Amino acid sequence: MDHNQILDVLIIGSGPAGLSAAVYAVRANLSVLVAEKEYCGTGQIAESDQVDNYLGLPSMNGYDLGESFREHAKSLGVEFYEGMADGFYQIEKSEGTEEERASNRGWNVHFTDGRQIQAKTVIYCAGAAHRRLGVEGEDEFAGKGVSYCAVCDGAFYRGKETAVIGGGDTALGDALYLSDLCDKVYLIHRRDEFRGSPSSVRQLREKDNVEILTSAAPARIVGEQTVTALELKDGRSIPVHGAFVAVGMQPLTEPLRGVIDLDETGYAVADETGVTSAPGFFVAGDVRTKALRQVVTAVSDGANAAVSAAEYLKQFF
Ligand code: NAP
Repeated sequence: MDHNQILDVLIIGSGPAGLSAAVYAVRANLSVLVAEKEYCGTGQIAESDQVDNYLGLPSMNGYDLGESFREHAKSLGVEFYEGMADGFYQIEKSEGTEEERASNRGWNVHFTDGRQIQAKTVIYCAGAAHRRLGVEGEDEFAGKGVSYCAVCDGAFYRGKETAVIGGGDTALGDALYLSDLCDKVYLIHRRDEFRGSPSSVRQLREKDNVEILTSAAPARIVGEQTVTALELKDGRSIPVHGAFVAVGMQPLTEPLRGVIDLDETGYAVADETGVTSAPGFFVAGDVRTKALRQVVTAVSDGANAAVSAAEYLKQFF
């Protein structure tokens, strides 16, 4: 593909939302490019050991599911570009009526490597990043016992003692995954009730090597060269070699500040159509305001946003 042409759709992100948008856009005969920050990435899904709730594919490994999404898009001719978008600028039109000048502008997207790509529409699906716990020792021991991805780093803790911090589906899934590798896993959650699925909590309660500590808030991660313990606010010290932080995600919407409306927590304000406050700029997946952030809703968002982009192109170009 000639990257200097004005694309119909530039998709930012190659997770389930971006790849689904790409499949729908290319099947609608639109010129499409998927920009991804990592070569051959498929987003957060690659970090999930097991995805049990994607319809028709029970017990699917997250990495494999992501790869099959990617292969599907590639088989239809979708092209990829490795680059991190960091600026979105509407192309100003100097001709036409006021209405035409206001709507038919398209976007000039800047990348950190200096490249610029122009597109009539953008579908932004950059997803979310791991939220930090914000306790002493977290930064100091990052990569030396503190991890944000059990599937990536769990094998380093085979036969050892670890703690998972958090009470959502990620923390529960991480604790289950680690319980098959580690001698002992502490699941540490700040409340009495779990946010994640009751069936995962049940599975964890049945494991002999899992100890669940509720109403337990971490105060400090301690160690020497590497982590040796997790200290709780109530004064208890839990001896562990690894601390897996799973306290939620933060949308990767920093480059969208001043471009489209974001809510007070940084999510892009949009319903399932993906339409945002800026013309020709759509969002899909975990970056947008919604109740349920799952693979299935990301895939659905991508499809909807591509259809919205196609309708927009028909109307304004
Ligand atoms: P989440 O649902 O937002 O849960 C974050 C957890 O971290 C909550 O339990 C929260 O406690 C806790 N937490 C937040 N800040 C904390 C702090 N400073 N100190 C201690 N604990 C803190 O995030 P998630 O688990 O990453 O899940 C994100 C989305 O992905 C959810 O919609 C989830 O269902 C989905 N997901 C699905 C699957 C799957 O279906 N296989 C797997 C992973 C994730 P409180 O509960 O007290 O707020």
